[in-house]
Amino acid sequence: MLRRTVTTGRASARQARVKPWQSLRGPPLGRGTLASVTGQGPRILLVEDEVSIAEPFARVLAREGFVPTVVGTAAEALDAFERVAPDLVLLDLALPDGDGRDVCRELRSRSDVPVIMVTARGTEIDRIVGLERGADDYVVKPFSGAEVVARIRAVLRRTGRGTAATGSEPVTIGPVAIDPAARRAQLGEDELELSRKEFDLLVDLMRHAGTVVTREDLMARVWDENWFGSTKTLDVHVGWLRRKLGDDPAAPRFIHTIRGVGFRFATPEELDPSA
Ligand code: CA
Repeated sequence: MLRRTVTTGRASARQARVKPWQSLRGPPLGRGTLASVTGQGPRILLVEDEVSIAEPFARVLAREGFVPTVVGTAAEALDAFERVAPDLVLLDLALPDGDGRDVCRELRSRSDVPVIMVTARGTEIDRIVGLERGADDYVVKPFSGAEVVARIRAVLRRTGRGTAATGSEPVTIGPVAIDPAARRAQLGEDELELSRKEFDLLVDLMRHAGTVVTREDLMARVWDENWFGSTKTLDVHVGWLRRKLGDDPAAPRFIHTIRGVGFRFATPEELDPSA
């Protein structure tokens, strides 16, 4: 009840949640198979003209096992792309010499490198919603380093097989297993009977396990990319999904509610009783 007034809206909740780089000193985020311990991790091209964002974030990337290259303009981005051959590009939308979307299109014409767009909330978000599917994902500034690292890992996982980028690889977290290609889901040994939307929702949450997926992102990806209305249907479907997973909304094991922001699927570590 205390201080309820400070979280009056989504924007303020987000601001309260996001203190850039605050989580950097926390434990490492779900170590994936991608960040190899040998130091030859995935190469990330970070195209960002704001030094106050680029520099600390490059340090985060390095610490998390990636090999970052930072450039600040559209022209440098294209140049560095050829030089570095990055595994993923993190691309600011508003660059001093151009529009990140043009850079994205140009990169797309050259390769199928995964691209995550970075945008400032409020000013560019509406345009991003209608973004042609050139980018694989997007993040909104201000963001936490932990959140973006998790997104990078998710996109790399999703597109890791290179060519088709269908994101159809099976995912298992704790007792929950999904096989998007076969549209099958299991809880332990039991087959889950999920509706189409429930299944898509579960896939989206599990692919981003450990990070908060915003209500807007879920609506856009599972329902309609041009959704601007009520998100009540999302709560209804999350409720149904929880019931099928045997998840108690008051003390959920799998799907956690982040009030005013979205939902977060538990990490394997959280679901592993021996951890
Ligand atoms: Ca910028």
